[in-house]
Amino acid sequence: MESGLKKRVVLVMASSSGLGKAISRQFISEGARVMMASRSWKKLEKAAEEVSRDMKNKALYKACDITDPNQIKDLVATTANELGPISVLVNNAGGPPAGSFDSFGDEAWQKAFELNLLSYVRTIREVLPFMKKQSWGRIVNSTSSSVRQVIENLILSNTFRLGVIGLTKTLSQELASHNILINAIGPGRFDTDRIRQLDKALAEKNNLSVEEVAKISLSRIPLGRYGDPDEYGRLAVFLCSEANTYITGQTILADGGMTKVVP
Ligand code: NAP
Repeated sequence: MESGLKKRVVLVMASSSGLGKAISRQFISEGARVMMASRSWKKLEKAAEEVSRDMKNKALYKACDITDPNQIKDLVATTANELGPISVLVNNAGGPPAGSFDSFGDEAWQKAFELNLLSYVRTIREVLPFMKKQSWGRIVNSTSSSVRQVIENLILSNTFRLGVIGLTKTLSQELASHNILINAIGPGRFDTDRIRQLDKALAEKNNLSVEEVAKISLSRIPLGRYGDPDEYGRLAVFLCSEANTYITGQTILADGGMTKVVP
């Protein structure tokens, strides 16, 4: 199957580590022109070097705090100037803090809204003119398995990621006539810094060791292991490829079978 992504311009948000970095690596391996973005220039420099190692095409990178609309505008303009018109956007973000309803006041809710929902709206708004002009575009919004089954102690994440699903479905209707396909993907438990932090938070909350928490998590995953971030990257690449011509408005989980609800 040909991905048709060679030389296509791809923007991957929140990509200096974990899932975003792995998604970037998979696009690079398809020959795409990739721009990686997150807050830390230093982390990005290292990540871009790593995902481009031994490849002819090298990922570019630019520091961008996705909670700042001006930085998003600047990032999109720079990407188009340096790489060409953007054809693919992968929205991703850092995770909001763990906690239950009593843990958060308005400020934390506002911050999570801006990080995990509004940033997606803003990047989509900026890239759409390029996609509409090409009559071709692919957008993937990365969320969490919590959009199907809420996760204990993660009320901010559980709430705002469902907003992303509503956004994705609605935009799939509005953008189809421009040949722009938009889908959401959600990870179950992939081996990244974020998951290690969450295991630690849950261990503290429940007076358990991190190893005990990880053991309980693993027992809930039919495939019996945490995912490798590159497995997630390949899902994003397929949905954004020329091989995907008819899937839009969907939410697809990569979770090793962990989520038991029927959509
Ligand atoms: P991670 O390894 O902690 O990576 C998070 C990325 O987000 C980093 O590259 C970080 O880079 C960037 N970031 C954070 N805040 C940002 C901001 N304001 N502006 C720009 N970039 C920002 O986490 P991950 O495991 O890859 O997870 C990615 C997302 O998926 C998170 O929202 C997480 O909650 C969600 N998720 C992950 C899993 C999983 O299994 N790993 C499961 C469910 C949901 P800088 O520090 O350089 O900004």
